[in-house]
Amino acid sequence: MEFTFNMPVKVFFGKGCIDKNSSVLAGIGKKALIVTGKSSADKNGSLKQITGALSTEGIKYERFNRVEANPSVETVREAAQIARDVKADFIIGIGGGSPLDAAKAIAILASNDLDDDGLFSGVYKKKPLPLIAVPTTAGTGSEVTPYSILTFRKISNKKSIASPEIFPAAAFLDASFTETLPVDTTINTAVDALSHTVEGYLSAKATDVIAPIAIESMRLLGTSLKKLTDKTAPSFSERENLLYASMLAGMVIAHTGTTAVHAMGYPLTYHRDIDHGRANGLLMYGYLRFLEPASAKVKDVIYAMGLKDVDEFGSLMEALLGKKEEITDEEIENFTDTAMTSKNIANTSPSPTRDEVKKIFQLSFGK
Ligand SMILES: [Zn+2]
Repeated sequence: MEFTFNMPVKVFFGKGCIDKNSSVLAGIGKKALIVTGKSSADKNGSLKQITGALSTEGIKYERFNRVEANPSVETVREAAQIARDVKADFIIGIGGGSPLDAAKAIAILASNDLDDDGLFSGVYKKKPLPLIAVPTTAGTGSEVTPYSILTFRKISNKKSIASPEIFPAAAFLDASFTETLPVDTTINTAVDALSHTVEGYLSAKATDVIAPIAIESMRLLGTSLKKLTDKTAPSFSERENLLYASMLAGMVIAHTGTTAVHAMGYPLTYHRDIDHGRANGLLMYGYLRFLEPASAKVKDVIYAMGLKDVDEFGSLMEALLGKKEEITDEEIENFTDTAMTSKNIANTSPSPTRDEVKKIFQLSFGK
């Protein structure tokens, strides 16, 4: 047996965890730049709790609230300039995957002058500013990963930064912030978490130590997703389960990275504006069908989720995601080319050829 396990994020989980642990913030810095989307952090109560804790600890702060869905390189550059101007010495990201991923890139650019290649290189002369993560969706797992996924217009796709330097210093996970999420967002984000744990478990980089974490995450998500097929809002304890499972899934991909599903999902999001989690959910059945003959581990996924076979997995995704988008043959060709340029393809075990990626697209969109 051989593995490396690195999880340097101090995680605080539970209702009111920010209030109860505000002194952690005092140990990080004296001036924070809070990074959020437009208004969700105001509505779900997370911003108020963070600003309350900062006031308690006598920490000054400014806010940047212009992070869009699938944040762009341009946006993180703008925010990093503000971080410099206000002399922030740490960053607090509050939100779904977009503000959290943006906060990581902002932390890098606030302390390093970098062109685009330098930003995506993952190697930095100066340490990025320390980062606090407050997830308000249960799906991205970004609070425990060393990744930041940005929209990079130069390549007309999404591109990831991977660096152990952007692991948050601490993460506060309070499921009450997810209570205002609509059911469809709850489903899409939970499906994203599922794709993380499934892809991580089946990846070429899977290790013994992440296997039980992945299996537990699949078990919890399997139960929750079945309940979500009735499209009613989950209870608080159900929301805690989702947040916990999504964090576990994040810990899995922190070690394994993602695979073909994410590589194929990015062009669907970039070109067709399909939500990230939904894009992954649409592709996962075809992906499991492709892997099934070659990977005995597919059965572990199915059983962990409490299902009997890959077909039942497909039915569950259909019940959750509803009518699929129409994708043309030309789009499939283009998206296949784009997916093949992603390094996540090689991380799939076994790694699919171009024809196989195209087949997964075709199977996923009923072609
Ligand atoms: Zn994802």
